[in-house]
Amino acid sequence: MVYYRKYRPQTIADLDNAALRDRLTSLLANPEHVPHAFLFTGPKGTGKTSTARIIAKIVNCEENLYAGKGKNIEPCNTCSECVSITNGSSMDVLEIDGASNRGIDEIRDLREKVRLSPVSARKKVYIIDEVHMLTTEAFNALLKTIEEPPAHVLFIFCTTEPHKVPDTIISRCVHVAITKGSKEEVVGSLQKVVEAEKLSIDQEVLEEIARITDGGFRDAKKILEELASAAEGKTITLDLLHTLHHSGTGLVFAQEFMNTICVQDGEKAISLIENAAAENMDMGYILDTLLDLLHTQLLLHYGIGEGEMMEMSEEFIAYAVDVFSRAKGQMKYASVSQLPLELAIIELIPGDEKESEEEKEPASSVKVQSGKPNLTMMMKKQQHITFQQRINPPKPPVPVKKVSSEKSPQISVNHDITFMDNLIQKVKAVNNSLSGVLRGITLSDKTDDSLTFTTRFSFHKERLEESANYAIMEKAIREIMGKQMKFNIQLVK
Ligand SMILES: [Zn+2]
Repeated sequence: MVYYRKYRPQTIADLDNAALRDRLTSLLANPEHVPHAFLFTGPKGTGKTSTARIIAKIVNCEENLYAGKGKNIEPCNTCSECVSITNGSSMDVLEIDGASNRGIDEIRDLREKVRLSPVSARKKVYIIDEVHMLTTEAFNALLKTIEEPPAHVLFIFCTTEPHKVPDTIISRCVHVAITKGSKEEVVGSLQKVVEAEKLSIDQEVLEEIARITDGGFRDAKKILEELASAAEGKTITLDLLHTLHHSGTGLVFAQEFMNTICVQDGEKAISLIENAAAENMDMGYILDTLLDLLHTQLLLHYGIGEGEMMEMSEEFIAYAVDVFSRAKGQMKYASVSQLPLELAIIELIPGDEKESEEEKEPASSVKVQSGKPNLTMMMKKQQHITFQQRINPPKPPVPVKKVSSEKSPQISVNHDITFMDNLIQKVKAVNNSLSGVLRGITLSDKTDDSLTFTTRFSFHKERLEESANYAIMEKAIREIMGKQMKFNIQLVK
């Protein structure tokens, strides 16, 4: 059995997250006042469903305070109710995947069944995972049930995306926000596995795993398991962790990869991807991990979460997220799976080779492929993107401190790209071909009440200055900036 299932916490005391242990202990202290609906929110791999099952056992155990025996609220994990909940055979504890049961019919069906008494337990417990996936109609149907639930029912909703859960639902639940573990908590959690499995491991390896998994207990256990299997009974060393970079641990790989992007070492970045491809790493997984890493880095800029901050400005992070998201979209059409990622590298680390004649076409002349683009088209598109960047090459990532202390009136190029993306999207909703023209222009200056765009093509300038188009732009800019701005288009060589 895999570690994270084998070592899934079975009691409140087993939970690695101290804040969560305290919260549950106080919420469940009195069997007379147990909430009838919980909402567990938190990042994936932090133990939401494991915690939900512990609660299901607490309220149904035959040997604890809830059964009128003793003062302990912890489940005994040996009575028939506890055992059937642990092994998933309980008729009264139902785990429902919100993603595949998201419609009104499924929720109506659930409403009917909720009324029936439990088969053998004291309480029927409905654990709905990924509850944010429910449709609006399904939420409305669910709302009626949780407004007046039968006394024998307990709902536990879990989600990684609480902002997608309607306020009307949230307000009727006791909200438990499960945060990522601290480094010490993750190390402690791994230590338990090390002892139970009698592994020989250097302490620094545990700390390194905690660092790279950034508080995710499940990921940390996965990495430890990979290491244990690779070590074949020998001591697990930091060297082993580092050699395994390319074969399993996406997070370690993502960090090394982003480090090479930060120092703008394109050659090394490409070779990392080639090696990963040679070792059959899933490129979609690598992209997901990179996006996860960038998300964590972005949060760190706002003082949220724990972890080591990499040398990337917020603007660069936003830019990289955009580049990797597009690469993800191209992946399903790519016949060479690593190619979209390699093209992304070229975008993030623009080269400085001479322009060819072909590249002198305006960037906007590249049509977005509606069908299945072939690799030549993808390469062409790429050339135009690097061409666009050569007109105004993006700043390499700058150290974080420099960015926050600098109060430059000059808008940075990367920021400009974000603004331009917004503008293009807004204009596209009104006039698709005009948004194509915008792809060939650059925001080069910005004051309190005016913007200056530049283009190398007089026909772009003329198009944008047509009064109807000017009005569309003006409205879109007003929406983005929240106020009226003047703007002009300048022709540059
Ligand atoms: Zn029990």
